Amino acid sequence: MASLRPDRSEVGFVDFKVPYDADQAVAEANRCITCHDAPCMHACPTHIDIAGFIRKIATDNVRGAARTILDANILGHSCARVCPVEVLCVGACVHHHHDHPPIQIGRLQRYATDMAMEKGWRFFTAGAPTGRRVAVVGGGPAGLAAAHELRILGHAVTILERAEVLGGLNVTGVAPYKLRTDTALEEVDYILGIGGIEVRTGVEVDAAGLDALVAEHDAVFVAVGLGPDSTLGVPGETLHGVHGAVRWIEAMKAGPLDLSAVRDAVVLGGGNTAVDAVRELKGLGVEGVTLVYRGDEAGMSGYAHEWENAVLEGVSAAWRAQPVAFEGDASVTGVRCLRTGDDKKPIPGTEFTLPAQLVLVATGQARIGQLLAGLPGVQLERGRVVADAQGRTGHPKVFVGGDCANGGKEVVNAAAEGKNAARAIHAALSGGSHG
Ligand SMILES: Cc1cc2nc3c(=O)[nH]c(=O)nc-3n(C[C@H](O)[C@H](O)[C@H](O)COP(=O)(O)OP(=O)(O)OC[C@H]3O[C@@H](n4cnc5c(N)ncnc54)[C@H](O)[C@@H]3O)c2cc1C
Ligand code: SF4
Repeated sequence: MASLRPDRSEVGFVDFKVPYDADQAVAEANRCITCHDAPCMHACPTHIDIAGFIRKIATDNVRGAARTILDANILGHSCARVCPVEVLCVGACVHHHHDHPPIQIGRLQRYATDMAMEKGWRFFTAGAPTGRRVAVVGGGPAGLAAAHELRILGHAVTILERAEVLGGLNVTGVAPYKLRTDTALEEVDYILGIGGIEVRTGVEVDAAGLDALVAEHDAVFVAVGLGPDSTLGVPGETLHGVHGAVRWIEAMKAGPLDLSAVRDAVVLGGGNTAVDAVRELKGLGVEGVTLVYRGDEAGMSGYAHEWENAVLEGVSAAWRAQPVAFEGDASVTGVRCLRTGDDKKPIPGTEFTLPAQLVLVATGQARIGQLLAGLPGVQLERGRVVADAQGRTGHPKVFVGGDCANGGKEVVNAAAEGKNAARAIHAALSGGSHG
């Protein structure tokens, strides 16, 4: 595993969802009524046989449970921690209809996959060599899921990754109270344990590089995620202390941050990155943390259950407010805002300033479909590559998946799309359509 700084700020966080011990796991598993045509399974983008793995935990077959999970989703270990289960499998559990607490599927999945990692249980081997070569550009969840499945199907795989380590946003972005970097890297090692995946890190593939990969391989799977944090384009954005949220989270997970001079912090945006960032700032001991969003609470795209936790942790909100300038000489001292109306447009004459020694801009990330724009047959739609559900683009050798194709969803969607694309690539190669 790559060496990590022991003083990185993320190490101070503890798990928000406490893991089960064996007795708790069996007791929870026994509450599951093993529904026929289980709605929890349909709600999971990777369609894990949830009723099946829970039954195995109930009968003390934890190894079998882990196999069921990882068979459907090789990123099941991280998904157990990071999935928004409240709006996926747990949200669909039939117990909701009977006024019983839903089954804690994520925690049961974590129980089984933690044990698989701890005991080193391995379930997968590479398939008989097909003689076909596939390049995977981007080693995040989508790229890893695709590479693993392609190896099972017997293809030679090379992952090309810009960063020094694989893992993508599981390593650099996910909130440390859900998943820490060391755990994410453990999973990467587990996935690579299938053997035969060539990994080239520190390689940023550009348009010319992509052309060359397409020429040299039977297929290319592109899973480069999203681009840099969006900027607001308002005065003062270059002041010291104003950062893109995703970039700042990456720095917090990789090394130590000195927040001793920060009494008040402001996070701009109403999505999940903004909600993660306010909770992270609170967790790092910042006293006054305010989320500024131009709509109201009901209109924010961040998950309600995550925002409720942020409020319980002491985060405040300024709803219906839009930043118009960052104040300060060299360093930021405040965010000047205007109130917004029902149409989310600023209302003149309603100016107010929030004090802030740190501001995180969490208003979205750029789309980087442009990388593929020069390939014949590939179409872009608002920066996103147009592809079908299996990741097929208009170019017969080029497939896409994960955030760069879906516009930015969850780890479990990236895992599902990577696996689906690997199967579509296999079908295309088996049909002899490589050239
Ligand atoms: C701050 C934040 C928190 C999140 N929290 C959660 C969460 O709690 N739960 C959840 O389910 N989802 C979460 N997500 C979303 C989730 O992380 C993504 O949906 C998922 O990581 C997408 O996987 P991916 O493989 O498509 O992209 P990424 O994870 O972004 O991986 C893409 C990889 O491609 C590499 N790359 C990019 N360009 C190139 C290039 N030109 N050449 C070579 N390599 C390149 C990148 O370095 C990266 O490693 C979060 C996202 C963010 C931004
Ligand atoms: S819906 Fe709930 S009770 Fe039914 S199988 Fe899924 S977890 Fe078990």
